Amino acid sequence: MKIVLKNLTKIFPSRNKKAGEEVIAVNNFDFTIPDGKLIGLLGPSGCGKSTTLYMISGLQKPTSGQIFFGDDDVTELSTENRGIGLVFQNYALYPHLTVKQNILFPLQNLRGEDKMTKQQMLERAYEAAKLVQIEELMDRKPSELSGGQQQRVAIARALVKMPRVLLLDEPLSNLDARLRLQTREEIRRIQKETKITTVFVTHDQEEAMSISDMIVVMKLGVVQQIGKPQEVYDSPENLFVAKFLGTPPINVFEGEIKSGKLYIGEAAVLETPGIDDQPVHVGIRPEGFILDDNGPLKCKLNNVEVMGRDVSIVSTHTASQNPQVRSIIDADNKIDPDTEEVRFALKPHKTFIFNKDTEERIFIEEK
Ligand code: ATP
Repeated sequence: MKIVLKNLTKIFPSRNKKAGEEVIAVNNFDFTIPDGKLIGLLGPSGCGKSTTLYMISGLQKPTSGQIFFGDDDVTELSTENRGIGLVFQNYALYPHLTVKQNILFPLQNLRGEDKMTKQQMLERAYEAAKLVQIEELMDRKPSELSGGQQQRVAIARALVKMPRVLLLDEPLSNLDARLRLQTREEIRRIQKETKITTVFVTHDQEEAMSISDMIVVMKLGVVQQIGKPQEVYDSPENLFVAKFLGTPPINVFEGEIKSGKLYIGEAAVLETPGIDDQPVHVGIRPEGFILDDNGPLKCKLNNVEVMGRDVSIVSTHTASQNPQVRSIIDADNKIDPDTEEVRFALKPHKTFIFNKDTEERIFIEEK
């Protein structure tokens, strides 16, 4: 089931009519979520990702714009009638009911032609439980489960009505690091098995990158970029997206284009034919540095951290916007930790330049 968002906008009126300003939580979101895919809605706190999800679910009404599930306009449809499964950050299970009763709950409320027999309901509940691998826990109460198990119950409860669309709002936030990893893989597996079109909201870029078919990066209600995770990482369209994706984060320098060359400080670090002279922001991914005794970019070495396969070189440069420059190179490279200066050449496809004012990407021509 594809989901079409057409010029979707949500404006919250100001609470204090005199002083306050209205909040444009989501601004003109226009996108078709392809059938059967998992989409990660990503961005910092307050960027409008939850509001987008709530509009898709029907919990909030758009100020303007439309939502279609397939060809059906669902904009005015209530949450119950949209055929969605919803999972929130806090699992919100009924504490006095067993796992089985929790999963059965949505089915017991079905009316009319959707009404099911007890046997049918039990079969469905066990199918959903099997999918999330909690069949053995059906007679326990939520308090007798781990956080990860509770979240699986919540997912089973969302799946039991065989929703057309699955909506997940920060479903892993309450889990510890190991469980987060395990549960996110589970969600991916379940989504692939069921092929339900899924929207997953998170502020954690690594989480979104690892499980999504496509990511949508948002800032202040405005979509910044949509694409496959690797494509967005490899080719950010603006400085915000470049900074938001990647751990360790991208290194940003003050730079200048002069006579077809990119300068950082006094050093010409890359050829940039065809780009007008101007000041720019330069983003260099940590893996974009090549250790080179004759390299143009000279940094002051602070520290060398060996991380097994890789070495992380921590240095400083006066033109760096980050307090430290972090580069990651292969551990085969030998570097003397007592040396004061470290020199780098740059990988052109890992180096991005952005307009100083608009922060939009300026594409460097491939030679
Ligand atoms: P978080 O990760 O913190 O949940 P988010 O990206 O999901 O953030 P939203 O919850 O969608 O962001 O909020 C987007 C903007 O809309 C924020 O500025 C928020 O303060 C505002 N907002 C959200 N809900 C309301 C509301 N009911 N009334 C007024 N403003 C709201």
